[in-house]
Amino acid sequence: MGEIQQNINQIQKRIEAAAQRSGRKKEDILLLAVSKTIDVERIKEAVACGLKELGENKVQEILEKYEPMGEEVKWHLIGHLQTNKVKYIIDKVKLIHSVESLKLAEEISKRAKKANKVMDILIEVNMAAEESKFGVAPEDTLSLIQKIALLDNICIRGLMTVAPFVENSEENRECFRRMKQLSVDINAEKIDNVYMDILSMGMSNDFEVAIEEGATIVRVGTSIFGRRIYPQK
Ligand SMILES: *Cc1c(COP(=O)(O)O)cnc(C)c1O
Repeated sequence: MGEIQQNINQIQKRIEAAAQRSGRKKEDILLLAVSKTIDVERIKEAVACGLKELGENKVQEILEKYEPMGEEVKWHLIGHLQTNKVKYIIDKVKLIHSVESLKLAEEISKRAKKANKVMDILIEVNMAAEESKFGVAPEDTLSLIQKIALLDNICIRGLMTVAPFVENSEENRECFRRMKQLSVDINAEKIDNVYMDILSMGMSNDFEVAIEEGATIVRVGTSIFGRRIYPQK
């Protein structure tokens, strides 16, 4: 068995255990393989192990890998999206995790209309109020959602956050708990066109805690593929 397969088996066991601890089913949690910087050959190993949904944080990398990876996989955009790049990926991605402004949402809706589709999106929340991070402040999330919900070719499916990098994953439990509560509160508003059925949170370092607190998508890169090697610029 290859290293990637071993890693995936391990992660899946940990996901199942975390789900059980919180009275959930492993089927309700998507392990999204974050394939940024990873070459097609190695990504295909992960796909062969059953991980058919892939996350990238750059438009360019989705475009490069789209054809070689083929029809079998579904792409998620998880990183910051510039308005002028929406047109390149609108027909290529299943879910955009990183919507944080009305302007971006308007462009997505406009391009989705041209492509004859309704684009599923998540709203990125900067729950820990880190200056270096993208995302809308928790207290501004509802009002942003109320505006985006009026757009024709967008469906809001939930929330996403990138939690702080911490030594001990327990340090992020409160952050994840507040994300879940925010999603419950927004759902209670019963806004047309808003379904809070997805909560994208948890990465290699903290996905178990995220699952215990209600994550439905965990975005895992390093634990599957090993440490990333970024090309020298
Ligand atoms: C890189 C990345 C991940 C995966 O991080 P790992 O620590 O490698 O699991 C998850 N989410 C986003 C938005 C990322 O950019």
